[in-house]
Formats: sequence, structure tokens, C-alpha cells
Amino acid sequence: MSRAIGIDLGTTNSVVAVIDKDGAPRILTTEEGSTMTPSLVWFAPDGPRVGEAARAGLDQHPDLTLFAVKRLLGRRFDHPEIRKLARILPYELIESPNGDTWINLSAGRTVTPEEVCGMVLRDLRRLAERHFGEPVTRAVITIPAWYDAAQRQATKDAATIAGLTVLRLLSEPTAAALGHGAHRGANRRYLVCDLGGGTFDCAVVDVENGLFEVLATTGDPFLGGDDVDRVVVEHLIRDARATRGLDVTSDAIAVERLRLAAQKAKHELSSQPLAKLTVEELAQLPSGKAVEYTRPVRRDELELWSSPIIKRLDPPVAEALAKSGRRREDIDEVLLVGGMTRMPAVRRQIAASTGKDPSTIVNPEEVVAVGAALEVARLEGVIEGVLLVDVASHGIALSTNGGDCELVIAQSAVVPTRAYRVLMTRADDQARIEFDVWEGESTEPARNRHLGRYAAVELPAALAGDVLVLLEVTIDTDGAVRLSASELVSGERLTLEQIFHAGLTRAEVTKLARTYAEAP
Ligand code: AMP
Repeated sequence: MSRAIGIDLGTTNSVVAVIDKDGAPRILTTEEGSTMTPSLVWFAPDGPRVGEAARAGLDQHPDLTLFAVKRLLGRRFDHPEIRKLARILPYELIESPNGDTWINLSAGRTVTPEEVCGMVLRDLRRLAERHFGEPVTRAVITIPAWYDAAQRQATKDAATIAGLTVLRLLSEPTAAALGHGAHRGANRRYLVCDLGGGTFDCAVVDVENGLFEVLATTGDPFLGGDDVDRVVVEHLIRDARATRGLDVTSDAIAVERLRLAAQKAKHELSSQPLAKLTVEELAQLPSGKAVEYTRPVRRDELELWSSPIIKRLDPPVAEALAKSGRRREDIDEVLLVGGMTRMPAVRRQIAASTGKDPSTIVNPEEVVAVGAALEVARLEGVIEGVLLVDVASHGIALSTNGGDCELVIAQSAVVPTRAYRVLMTRADDQARIEFDVWEGESTEPARNRHLGRYAAVELPAALAGDVLVLLEVTIDTDGAVRLSASELVSGERLTLEQIFHAGLTRAEVTKLARTYAEAP
């Protein structure tokens, strides 16, 4: 069998981990010597560039350099988060014919989020192939625990486009606990707080007798390190105006240089009290001479500026505890994940919110990928006695003839799970029965997410009510929804026709996978 890898497909950065011959997890480093690959694709004039190679595109072609695309995966164009992102992203979002979110790359060329994330995954696959010196075709990929069925399916489609078969989609907080070694210890309850560049995710994970279970998830999709960088830049712009008489507000290149310098200073201030922030060329004099901008920044200044942002970490933490039905005292260990948790003020805020000092994770950016690699080892039988239990993140409901939705699988059902419903013909010789599948718990279709409309076809000729269709609805381990139908009496399998569905069709995914398998 070919090699399998663990992938943390991140919004800002992605990480790939493997299990070494001695059974220990190892994070792979890129050609640039980094353990992280920026989740970036630049559609440059001479062809697409991925990862570090795409970074220059952020300056040169912001409309063609796609970052944070993970946030678009499996999301409807009319989703509130997409409406908000459409206003802030420098590239253009458009609505696909079936209501998904696509990206317009100018001149009528569009790409799907699945394709862009597929390109990032393909880059990670190649990194692993260089490491092993042999093909890699299988992966465990981590996803947020709250991902719905469409987002899970879109992630799997991205993997297929990258030439990878998904062994399992693993929830990020579970992966973090596993990467932290929770499978080796006693029974414990964890609170996992993951603060990255743009998002904050919080989850309560229970580990009991080797059984991992995510009890509750909360978060803020618009809270992260980027917000801290932004307020620092605002202060620097004001400072440059007050102390040097430089107004760079409308100079996009100068602002981007300030942002990079601010981020660098923020990183330094996590381990030292003072940083010297320098932009070699913030502006030019009429003579063409470059004007350098430099300013010392103290940690306490950074903390003062970012305190309104850091305070926003508290409500999701409190809500995660409330949703899981646990008190602060019930939490045994607080795990901090994501680069931003290196910032001391973030650690202090979470300690205050939880009443507990967070555990030290040496590399908070890598622990999720380590968990994914350990899951590969578990699936291959190298680690025994551990079971990762997932619950359905949303309920699944059915409706027929435009009627109300009827819940078939409840939210929080342990997956994999399966449920049955019987549909009946209403007319003589009715050849097909159409039905809609929804994700959500409401009886009102408009309050649920439409996953698809299907028809059981080629029904045998019979009187009304004499043909009974047994519909089987399955949520598999990955949280993906599968359907199959048979005639109840004869047990014969029926063909299900897809009339509408969210995301890409199987044929589109296969075609893209072929295109990328042949691409350089
Ligand atoms: P991640 O998505 O986990 O890679 O996190 C990315 C965020 O972590 C970005 O906002 C980074 O600026 C931030 N970050 C990375 N390293 C540090 C550090 N040493 N101190 C503070 N923030 C950091």
C-alpha cells in the first residue's frame, strides 16, 4: 500500500506530518525550510504558484492571489459569513449556478474553492513524496469540528482533485488532543482553544478509556491574529503622521509593508518585552530618496492596543463550557493551538476565562498535524486501544412535495449512523418519487440548508400507494451524507437521480482530478 500522511489544512497555513519508521510523528519541512506552507495560490501570468512561492502575489496581484479559501469551502453564496468576506477579500466572489461560492479571476475565468484547496493539498502531497521518495495517495485531513455536510464533502472533493483519498476527516480539536498525547494518559476533559490568523475555535473534548468525543464547539469566525496586526498598523499610521508628517493611508504598498513589520514585531514581542519595528522604505522624498520608518514597540503597548480584541476570546470560552454542560472546574486541561496563542496576553485571557493555566504545547501550530499523523498510525493499526467518536454536527431532514421537513437523523447522533424512511407513490403508475434532503433541525425548509433534490426513478407500474420506496440515509465517519433507495417489498435497488445538489458533481471532481494529475 502507498504511503499515508496527516494534513492540517489551515486557513492561513497548512502543515503535513508523517509517521517515521520508529513510529514517531514528524513534521515535514518545505524547500524554504519552514514547517508551514502558506495556504496561498497565486494565479500568476506564467501559471499558478502555491505556498511560499505565491506570497509575492499578495503585493503584485491581490485580485489573483487567493488566501483564506478554506473559509469558502462548501459555503453558499448567500451565507452571512460569505456576504461579510465578499466585502473584505481583495479577490472577487461570485455565485455559482447552484448557489455555491466561486471565485472570479478576471476575464471570465472562475475557480472553485475545492480546486484552490486541492492545489494546496497537492503541494503538500508532493512535499511528502519528496520526503518518502515514493508516491503518496492517502491522507487524514483535519477540519473544524463544526463543519457541515457540504463543507466536509467539499474538503473531500479538494483532496480528490489533489490525487488523495481521504482515510478520514478528523476534527481539529480531537486532532489537537491526540497530538498532545491524550491517548496515552488517564481519562481527561480538555478545553481546546485554537486562535489562528483569522478565526477562533473552541471545543470541549472528552477522553475516556481511549474514547475521544467532542462535546461542544463554539467560536468566532472573525477573530484572529489579523485583527491584532490591523490595530497595530492603525497606530503606526497615526504615529508616522504625528512624528514624521507622513500620510500613508492611501498608499497600499506602504500599508502592506507596515503590516508585515507589525506582524514581525508581534511575533518578537511574544518572547521579549521590546521590539524594534523597521520599514526600510515607507515613502519616497521628491528627490527619490527612500524614507525609513523605525519605531520601538513595547509589549505593554501591543497589549494595550489589542486588548479589545483579546477580550473577545472570553464569550466563546464561556459558551463552550455552557453548551457542553460542564463547569470550569470540570475541565482538566486547557490546550492552546494556533500561532496566536504564543502571545502572552492571549494565554492570560484564556487562563482568566477558564480559571486554569493552559498547558504548554511546544509548537501550537503543529500539534493538529501531529494528531492527524497519529490517526494515520491508528488506522493502520500501529496505535491500539483508541477510538475517535464523532457526532453529527447537524441534523438531517427530508421533505416531499414542498412540505415540511421531517428530522431523520438528529444532531449529536454518534456517527457513523443510518436511518430509514419509507416513501409511497400517490398516483397510479407513478414512475418516480422526488424528495429533498436538508441539513438542520427545523421543520421549516427555509431555516435549513438544502443539500439536494433527488428522485427515485424507474418505479414499477402499480396502483397508487402500492409502491413503497425504502430510503436509507447514512452519515459516515467523515460526516458526509450518503443516500440509497430500494423497493421495500422486492428489496430491489433503485436508481437515485440527482436533480439539484450543493457543491461540485462527481463528474466535475473527476475531471478536475484528471486535469491536475496531468498538470506539472
Ligand atoms: P496559524 O493559523 O496557527 O498559523 O496562526 C497564524 C497567526 O499566528 C498569525 O496571526 C500569526 O501572526 C500568529 N503568530 C505566529 N507566531 C506568533 C508568535 N510568535 N507570537 C504571536 N503571534 C504569532
